[in-house]
Amino acid sequence: MLTKIFDSDKIHKLKTYIDKGNKFVIVTHELPDGDAIGSALGLYHYLMMFDKKSIKIVVPNDFPEFLKWMPGAKDIVISDYYPDFATQLTADADVIFCLDFNVIKRLGKLASAVIASDARKVMIDHHLDPEDFSKVVISYPDISSTSEIVFRIICAFGDVDLIEKESAECFYTGMMTDTGAFSFNSNYDEIYLIISQLIKKGINKDEIYHKVYQVYSESRLRLMGYVLYKKMMLYPDKHSALFTLSRDELNRFKYKCGDTENFANLPLSIKGIYFSVFMREERNFIKISLRSVGDFPCNLFASKYFNGGGHKNASGGEFYGSMEDAVKTFEEVLALNNPNNYEKL
Ligand code: 5GP
Ligand code: MN
Repeated sequence: MLTKIFDSDKIHKLKTYIDKGNKFVIVTHELPDGDAIGSALGLYHYLMMFDKKSIKIVVPNDFPEFLKWMPGAKDIVISDYYPDFATQLTADADVIFCLDFNVIKRLGKLASAVIASDARKVMIDHHLDPEDFSKVVISYPDISSTSEIVFRIICAFGDVDLIEKESAECFYTGMMTDTGAFSFNSNYDEIYLIISQLIKKGINKDEIYHKVYQVYSESRLRLMGYVLYKKMMLYPDKHSALFTLSRDELNRFKYKCGDTENFANLPLSIKGIYFSVFMREERNFIKISLRSVGDFPCNLFASKYFNGGGHKNASGGEFYGSMEDAVKTFEEVLALNNPNNYEKL
């Protein structure tokens, strides 16, 4: 079976919180991705097995259409649309689970409500250097996804039998999306042991792949074509690529939340390119997505220059200024850093 990775005191404490609590809130980061929604819903379905007064998932803002098929997704409270309700839920909670983020600022406008709440907070995450805002911190940066950690926690409780098809589908989605469909952060045997358990619960992994990766709009594909044909800039001596999209460009292609998901990875399929950066204009800042293959730590690049962080090969950040200045900053700091010094996979 699975290696016992958890501190038994923490598992015991967590189980006590679940046994004694009556009102639970699960929160996750801004611009929620497959792992954020997958781990939250997987935990939600597990908690629903018990007789509790209230179990709610609250996310800061809306999430992509390709995640909305997940069982329970339509019951998620989006704080952007219902801020008072979201604040009330966090204030009333006995326990708040903070999933898939390590720094409170990733909750965006929801952060102050979570900080202000007297609830016991539990962080379950897989990003480096967790901030200290929770009573219990369960952080494993070497594990593929928060979804996998939550699955393992339920196993550590001895409750694997309580995982049903619905939660198994959510956990699988989180594991799949955080590993690029098992193409990175997934080279260890136990992840496949877990997948085999999830298949035994009745999931159809091929169908999940289809529901997540093959349901895009025509305009997203045309936007991808535009990016590749017109926008991608290569820095061959630095083995790097950059592309940007302004609000005008996004509007031209009827951009919807989630439409640029995975775009940052595209240049990495070019031989000799192993660092890729995508800058997208948001309302009041530039959102930066960084990806690398091999040893180049794009999370350090993100934290040093773009107010961000994340994983070694997939990270993000923000730039406060014009797109022009963001590009200028990137080019200046690229000159100081040579991804070439890192060994390619
Ligand atoms: P994406 O490029 O898909 O938005 O984000 C990729 C990964 O980078 C996320 O899973 C998360 O770990 C990290 N990330 C994205 N944006 C931020 C940010 O603003 N701050 C930090 N610390 N990490 C981020
Ligand atoms: Mn994650």
